[in-house]
Amino acid sequence: MKKLSLANTPTRIEEIQLMDADLPAHLYIKRDDMTGVGFTGNKIRKLEYLFQKALDEGITDVITRGAVQSNHARATALAAARLGINCHLVLQGHRDSKDEANLFLDQLAGAHVHIIGREDGYPDQVMEDLKKDLEAKGAHAMIIPVGGSNGLGSMGYVDCFNEILEQEEEMNISFDTVVCVAGSAGMLAGLVYGNELAGGKKDIVGISVLDSKETVLEKTLPPIIDEMNELTGNHVANYNVTILDDYVGLGYAKSRPEEMEFIWDFVSQTGIILDPVYTGKAMYGIFSELLEQHWSEKENILFIHSGGAFGWTREQMEMLLRK
Ligand SMILES: *Cc1c(COP(=O)(O)O)cnc(C)c1O
Repeated sequence: MKKLSLANTPTRIEEIQLMDADLPAHLYIKRDDMTGVGFTGNKIRKLEYLFQKALDEGITDVITRGAVQSNHARATALAAARLGINCHLVLQGHRDSKDEANLFLDQLAGAHVHIIGREDGYPDQVMEDLKKDLEAKGAHAMIIPVGGSNGLGSMGYVDCFNEILEQEEEMNISFDTVVCVAGSAGMLAGLVYGNELAGGKKDIVGISVLDSKETVLEKTLPPIIDEMNELTGNHVANYNVTILDDYVGLGYAKSRPEEMEFIWDFVSQTGIILDPVYTGKAMYGIFSELLEQHWSEKENILFIHSGGAFGWTREQMEMLLRK
């Protein structure tokens, strides 16, 4: 399957040491936060496939959606700018959201931003309506699903899984467990799929920042896996995956003081930036699982650092500094 080359890959893998924590396993980080500056994070691996399709089909306008501070929207806006494609973002949030962080970068990239509230209806419907409007004016528009998480986008994380297998050889190491954040779960789906194609030897763990374990397992993952089966001609039906939903905390994009405290400790001891919405919660989860001895059978754990540094809003920065 063809894809564009937009991301800096392979991304490096580093071992992490915290001065004040005696971890019962080796913890490694795959630096997908270093896929690029504007492109930082996991979305660009999915967009390499999705924008290839857009170019192949002569698409003039892409439409996608997310929360007002969506990393996916920002990466899509910048990739579209690079490729000379118009970008329309349907963002859920307050109409008076501050033009900061990702929302600022969306506009810097020239994206058309539509902020919608509950009264505007379902965001997927808003995207469909926008597509009709654009096509009535002669555009050739394509909708990219939330998070870029369909079968095609998730192929980017099958590639990432294969990249890990190559790095294991080079580094002479074997990761028994691969951990990532589960949001729209395209990253997780790709890693799960790659693992199954390679014989299913690793534990794949998704730490949810949004939905319950049941929702991820029953509603979110299966359709993405089905689409990957259709695209690749494989028949992956049963797969090994663990979802932890104990670290959603107060809910999507809402932070607790203990998470902020942890992020502060982690960043100030490693120089690796975590964000409050995704990687901060996941890393807090990993440390909790390790320190509470829930993962005592694990030896080499690899966390996929999925980016998010632009997700810090003024409000969250103030919360961290006040901790
Ligand atoms: C989108 C995102 C995730 C979640 O990835 P999904 O494929 O949507 O599950 C994790 N971390 C960061 C920083 C993200 O932007």
